[in-house]
Amino acid sequence: MKNSILVLFVVLGAVIVSPGCNNSSKEPKTGQTEEKIQYQCPMDCEKGKTYEEKGQCPVCGMDLEKAPVEA
Ligand SMILES: [Zn+2]
Repeated sequence: MKNSILVLFVVLGAVIVSPGCNNSSKEPKTGQTEEKIQYQCPMDCEKGKTYEEKGQCPVCGMDLEKAPVEA
């Protein structure tokens, strides 16, 4: 029976493929939030412009403060 051999191959294929399916079912961590700290001038000299690093405002020279991050 040639068919039995064909079935054997199909079953083998399913066995080989199924672990891959299980791995793909791993869901990426969606709960992970990237918190980006941004800084901006407390006087808002630059209309909400934010900086990724601490420093001084180029306009008024005040120390930049942490800006609330929008989710
Ligand atoms: Zn400023």
